[in-house]
Amino acid sequence: KKFEDLNLKQELLQGLYAMGFTKPSKIQETALPAILNDPPQNLIAQSQSGTGKTAAFSLAMLSRIDTNLNYPQALCLAPTLELATQITDVVKKMGQHMKNLNIASAIRGNRMPRNIELREQVVIGTPGTAFDWSCSRVNVLSLKKLKIFVLDEADVMIDQQGHQDICIRIVKGLPRDCQVLLFSATYKNPVIEFAKKIVQNPMIIRL
Ligand code: AMP
Repeated sequence: KKFEDLNLKQELLQGLYAMGFTKPSKIQETALPAILNDPPQNLIAQSQSGTGKTAAFSLAMLSRIDTNLNYPQALCLAPTLELATQITDVVKKMGQHMKNLNIASAIRGNRMPRNIELREQVVIGTPGTAFDWSCSRVNVLSLKKLKIFVLDEADVMIDQQGHQDICIRIVKGLPRDCQVLLFSATYKNPVIEFAKKIVQNPMIIRL
């Protein structure tokens, strides 16, 4: 399979070339046709770091958003600030040829914008901060118009006190038709139980 066969926007193909990617990795080749197509398919993927999962869900987020609209349409949560920052870098690089693309980081230490709603199309952060911002009095992060929600390293999330519950509460605030993608390095019972609470009717990929 080739990236050119995936119906990606031209700007995203340019982004891929700029990053030096010439052909899809295994996870990308398996997941992308289903998660990029309409109707959007939900996904649970067991996939380790190094398999190219970040690029896979970054392409999905950047494909789903409309950069002419100035409100959050894609939200990605990761268990640590470091990981959220790495993901932000990948999304920025991948989207470097997209006009009007704006990305916000919902991470601790980033001061919450007061009294204004985020206007960035893509929001990447950690669960605690994203939850604070989405349930704050001014509703800084609106979940109402999200088209895609990505949860990375779900196995790490459930090992961290409170993260699992916060993720479930955020998911309850998503619109009914929001696409949900969940990634986890392991696929043991606690992860499967958690994943079932987050993702409805998923396609399941295990590498
Ligand atoms: P990840 O699994 O997201 O941690 O990515 C692992 C590494 O693979 C990163 O350094 C990516 O830049 C790289 N990578 C991801 N997809 C591709 C691809 N299709 N071709 C070449 N390198 C890739």
